[in-house]
Amino acid sequence: MIDLHTHSTASDGTEPPAQVVASAVEAGLTTVALTDHDTTLGWTDASEAARRLGIALVPGIEVSCARGRRSVHLLAYLPDSTHPALVAELEQARDSRETRLDRMVDRMAADGLPVSVESVRAEVEEGATPGRPHIADALVRAGAVAHRDEAFAHLLSDRGPYYVGHYAPDPVRAVEVVRAAGGVPVVAHPLSVTRAGTVGDELLEEMVAAGMAGIEAHHRDHDPDAVRHLVDLAASLDVVVTGSSDYHGDGKQNRLGERTTTPEVLERIEALATGSEVVRP
Ligand code: AMP
Ligand code: ZN
Ligand code: FE
Ligand code: FE
Repeated sequence: MIDLHTHSTASDGTEPPAQVVASAVEAGLTTVALTDHDTTLGWTDASEAARRLGIALVPGIEVSCARGRRSVHLLAYLPDSTHPALVAELEQARDSRETRLDRMVDRMAADGLPVSVESVRAEVEEGATPGRPHIADALVRAGAVAHRDEAFAHLLSDRGPYYVGHYAPDPVRAVEVVRAAGGVPVVAHPLSVTRAGTVGDELLEEMVAAGMAGIEAHHRDHDPDAVRHLVDLAASLDVVVTGSSDYHGDGKQNRLGERTTTPEVLERIEALATGSEVVRP
């Protein structure tokens, strides 16, 4: 069983990278990809755990991209984590996320919400990519909301009163950078309606023309019509279809292995990659 999209405390998941791998073993997976937002920080610990626990690990990243106000998430499998252009893009995104988090928190504090830059920072692991879920965690700790979902329903929503964006590359540029780094780009949950707008077919076609290799069609944010549409589109564009959980530990309801990817698709992804290798026990 192969699950190609998970998050750890290297970004906004709630389990450390080695624990995500251990949870993957427990869930009966044979292969898991670690795809933290805008960072490769968790790769070393996850690789070590995979070797120790006898599971295959696909090193990956979920790159935050934007076109206009539309947010696009691009999964990047097996890139070279030292490639200068990729490193530069990820660093710029993480730096901008720091400033943006402070701005959101300042606005919320000014409105009387029980958060401060310090209380939010305390929720982020050293060196990890900060995100809105960390503000949610500070709100939970202060007793203002019961869980992350409640914070996102209004306070932290894309259309909410405190939303501030951050630097994110154009999706076509991100596809090019991931390819240059030897990675395999696959768009994450393009028809997720929980985000500001969905990713239209035209943009997906543009991304495929730039070198994108797949579409994550099977994802809990996609209803059956959306899945069908994306599977057909992938076939017509001759790119692979993946399925994944988008696991965030206790931070989201998504369970490991709730959506999966076929071994044939993983083989095709591996064959296209030149940046790094699947860690096999
Ligand atoms: P950011 O990257 O800082 O803009 O925050 C987006 C992140 O928040 C994504 O990784 C989502 O997984 C997470 N997120 C979005 N909605 C929710 C929710 N309702 N509950 C928990 N996490 C969420
Ligand atoms: Zn996330
Ligand atoms: Fe995402
Ligand atoms: Fe994700």
